Amino acid sequence: MAVQTIAVLPGDGIGKEVVAIGREMLELYRSRGFPLALWDLDLGADRYLRDGTTMPEDVFARIRDECSAVLLGALGDPRVPNLEHARDILLGLRFRLDLFANIRPCRALDDRLVPLKGKGAKDVSFVVFRENTEGIYVNVGGNFKKGTPDEIAINEDVNTRKGVERIIRKAFDHALAHGNKTVHMADKSNAMRQSGDLWQRVFQAVARDYPGIAAKHVYVDALCLYLIQAPERFEVIVTNNLFGDIITDLAAALHGGLGMACSASIGAGPVGLFEPVHGSAPDIAGQDKANPLATVLTVGAMMSHLGYPREEARLEAIVREAVAAKQCTADVGGTLGTAATGRFVLDRLKRDDPSP
Ligand code: ATP
Repeated sequence: MAVQTIAVLPGDGIGKEVVAIGREMLELYRSRGFPLALWDLDLGADRYLRDGTTMPEDVFARIRDECSAVLLGALGDPRVPNLEHARDILLGLRFRLDLFANIRPCRALDDRLVPLKGKGAKDVSFVVFRENTEGIYVNVGGNFKKGTPDEIAINEDVNTRKGVERIIRKAFDHALAHGNKTVHMADKSNAMRQSGDLWQRVFQAVARDYPGIAAKHVYVDALCLYLIQAPERFEVIVTNNLFGDIITDLAAALHGGLGMACSASIGAGPVGLFEPVHGSAPDIAGQDKANPLATVLTVGAMMSHLGYPREEARLEAIVREAVAAKQCTADVGGTLGTAATGRFVLDRLKRDDPSP
């Protein structure tokens, strides 16, 4: 079997602490015969402040041409107020590798993690497909008469037929592969008429290729309401870049918070970018408080991408166990630190003795 290379980029703040654990897990897999190679990247705020490097061209080219996945911790540091390094590294990877599908599962792994009255883990199990390369994030816009009483500020919301179609198709493909019965498309077409019209037409057109799956439309404001009132109604949600950003934070709160939320960014090419949803959390960085379980689930999603879906299920089961036994950090009701939670996961993984 060909060796698959994973670029490991811990980044800043708690990213370093949680990726240290993710890296150990990947090392363990490697030692058990999984054909993986790890490539450590010293990029992030420290490096930027040291010598001005953000994302060297040769490193980017190697990631694009030689890697199967990138494991990224977080980027963000109060010492770099304009976040220039983060923009170059993260947006560089996302846009230049054309990672158009940001996939964020929202699956509660313990009743205790669901904050809604009368709801439990069985009620919170859906996945959000967020368009990742268009929308307002393309930074098209401008100011006119800035600093005067007549100032105008414009941000354009860019939606292409190709971009809309490929993310919607990805969501339906996922639903088909996982036996889901519905895909919801969330927009604000009553206010954003042109882009909404495009999303609606493409959604209906793509849905015709998936006759066994009900294609349902929901306004994004109503979706926020329903996610709190009746999250069990949702299996797969597809939406644009901005709405995806907002509803996945809401979704994270339904299953234990940012410390439990993982994400994958996938494009047409072979390289996937895998990262916990949380940021660098400078308020708790370096204090052994960060929950590493989002990263454990992120490694699971990465293993699936690399062709080992059994490992994703295994790691989810281990996380479930850690939370149930309170062998986890304080944000999800445990008493352990980051490193000890990681040790619990690694010991369990070793005991399972995984093989490719
Ligand atoms: P950034 O600027 O890098 O996005 P941030 O502080 O703005 O960082 P997050 O890091 O996403 O935003 O997190 C917001 C808050 O949630 C943090 O300040 C922290 O208290 C909490 N938090 C985030 N991730 C975790 C985690 N893995 N474990 C525990 N608490 C977390």
